[in-house]
Amino acid sequence: MRILVTNDDGIRAPGLIALASVARQFGEVKIVAPDHERSACGHSMTLHEPLRAWPVEWDGLEAYEVTGVPVDCVNVGLALCWPDGCDLVLSGFNNGPNLGFDVTYSGTVAGAMEGCINRIRSIALSMASFVTGAPYHYETGARWLSENWDALVALPHVPLTFLNVNVPAVDYPELRGIRVVGMGRRVYEERIEPRTDPWGRDYFWQGGVVAMDKDQPDTDVEAVSEGFVSVTPITLDWTDHSRLEELRCALRAGPSPHAHCPP
Ligand code: MN
Repeated sequence: MRILVTNDDGIRAPGLIALASVARQFGEVKIVAPDHERSACGHSMTLHEPLRAWPVEWDGLEAYEVTGVPVDCVNVGLALCWPDGCDLVLSGFNNGPNLGFDVTYSGTVAGAMEGCINRIRSIALSMASFVTGAPYHYETGARWLSENWDALVALPHVPLTFLNVNVPAVDYPELRGIRVVGMGRRVYEERIEPRTDPWGRDYFWQGGVVAMDKDQPDTDVEAVSEGFVSVTPITLDWTDHSRLEELRCALRAGPSPHAHCPP
């Protein structure tokens, strides 16, 4: 099995080392990751600058640092390592959760999304720690992945979907189990903090306090907050199929005839 490993925390991130150490037990691993941290870059790609890939020493594995974001790493990695494609793209372990709407900002998730667009089975993995400075417990993520590897890889590959996994950042025995759940609603309050620089000019710092909507049952947010590993299948088809007919009627648009539309 040919496995491409990437992340958004950069080539030196301990979460990447933990992920590669598990993956190499199950197949041929090549590591292609950003040369520095690119968290919260989302599914962006580099178009207007060259991308350089430099070989990096990595304990017997082929590894490259790339002057780009995770999407760039997956595409450069495939061109460099496996022009005919590979069998699995792993992105992580991120140093923090990627729950609910975080998936749209996350570079970690974007790495898996790009693998998915390349028609490769892909998994994003994050350590869900909620306290600044608390340990990420990558060893827990590594053990969880190792113990569930066969089950994850035995699943039939569904094109245009990938998995988003969040592992609570706790000691392994404290994990309560696994929940397969939908995307929750993790939003931020007081997102923009206005400040003043030493010269009296206003500026803004974006961050914010996480306001998790734990009222939404059967979501990644709820599962992780209760100590379970969350596994969420995500589809690249963002269409709201339930609204297609309503919109066709309102706009008198095709493809279906409008005889069934309300007058
Ligand atoms: Mn990150």
